[in-house]
Amino acid sequence: MTNFSQVVSIDPAVCTGCRRCSEVCPVDAISGAEGEPQSIDTSRCVICGQCVQICSAFVSPFDDAAENLPAMRTGRGLAANDSATLFAAHFRNDTKRVGDLLNNPSMKSMVQCAPAVRTSIAEEYGLAPGTLTPGQLAASLRRLGFDAVYDTIFAADVTIMEESSELLERIRSDGPLPMFTSCCPGWVRYMESAWPDLIDHLSSCKSPQQMAGALFKTYGAEIAGVAPESIASVSVMPCTGKKHEAARPEMQSSGYPDVDAVLTVTELAAMLKAKGINLAEMPEEDFDVPMGLYSGAGVIFGASGGVMEAALRTAIAVISGNEVNESGVKFVPAGKGIRRASVEVAGRTIRAVIVSGLANAAALLEDVRAGKADFDFMEVMCCPGGCVAGGGQPKLLPGVNVEEAIALRRSGLYRHDRELPVRASHKNESVLALYEKFLGKPLGHRSHELLHTHYGTEGGEH
Ligand code: SF4
Ligand code: SF4
Repeated sequence: MTNFSQVVSIDPAVCTGCRRCSEVCPVDAISGAEGEPQSIDTSRCVICGQCVQICSAFVSPFDDAAENLPAMRTGRGLAANDSATLFAAHFRNDTKRVGDLLNNPSMKSMVQCAPAVRTSIAEEYGLAPGTLTPGQLAASLRRLGFDAVYDTIFAADVTIMEESSELLERIRSDGPLPMFTSCCPGWVRYMESAWPDLIDHLSSCKSPQQMAGALFKTYGAEIAGVAPESIASVSVMPCTGKKHEAARPEMQSSGYPDVDAVLTVTELAAMLKAKGINLAEMPEEDFDVPMGLYSGAGVIFGASGGVMEAALRTAIAVISGNEVNESGVKFVPAGKGIRRASVEVAGRTIRAVIVSGLANAAALLEDVRAGKADFDFMEVMCCPGGCVAGGGQPKLLPGVNVEEAIALRRSGLYRHDRELPVRASHKNESVLALYEKFLGKPLGHRSHELLHTHYGTEGGEH
């Protein structure tokens, strides 16, 4: 039986012991003999969901286990008569929780969706990976009943304002450098559990999901004219780790949880289908203002290298005064899953590293620990390829060319970036208005209170 508080689990009644999950687990958290049910060491697990993505063992109506289907469904947070396929490796289902929030007439619901959702959710309707549906996504969320349809990408732009300022501050005040990005919860959890002595290298920025949630319950509450406790803050993510991140006890800047519930892409698709909403046939609608306006820089957060690219677009503009749509920085391969670049800005060289896949970060961390790091700024994404390949994305079943599908999702995001009129976070007028009317300035008092945190306390159990 699933432990309901646990985000990722393996059901021993369904697991065949094929061990494909253990091959993709980046932290060697899955154990068990071949042919026997596997188990997850929750103290090591970083909740990336890659095991969920690869597992293809499910309960068939002809299996002995099918007798217990209603109990298995409720154990996973599903309705007893839900029609979802029950795979052995699975994540906690939060659709009922979100349904309850939407049905509560005393709550004002605000939703955000991460960049990588709009390049993959169309797959749930039979369309090709990389099919872009931001307008249909906004329309579908509105039909589902959300009062305000906002966007995580707005908060990604805010993250860049804060994170690029933090990088420049660390460069000016001698550290601690190198600075590591902190928007991937699997990466943060890995740092906290395996490299606690290097925790000060992590940016103090919350992830875009948590920044958006903190702003919903403060800035958003002011705009809506309601109390923070009356806001139901929901996010739609490509990531299973975001469910854990939202539950971290320190993520309550307003005095209430920044994010009340997290849906993966597959969970949102299931909710839409249950209500008869066909996203593929929806008209294109805009996200709501002000927290639904976004730049192309925030869009590319959803692919490995995108946070670095977005941060450099703004950092270069701030240091040199040259406005850029693209950083113009060319990253070159430097080992498995690693790319590097150096950029000269106002007489200073910034050496940047992008790491795709948690397992590829260890050698670089050893260099940092030994005081031999030859870089200033490092982006790490836990899932190979970044959020486009997250554990909450539509499942790429056997027979699908996984690399090609991930590449198509990625190219969809970069196409969206190129097509947007504003492509740098510091040019997003809604973000500038947020600072003018509410936050003050990046790294200011209110930003520190709402948008930054201290990692290292390991927020919550698995
Ligand atoms: S959880 Fe799934 S992938 Fe892992 S061993 Fe069991 S059946 Fe295989
Ligand atoms: S969620 Fe990720 S870290 Fe945890 S067991 Fe699965 S593959 Fe390993």
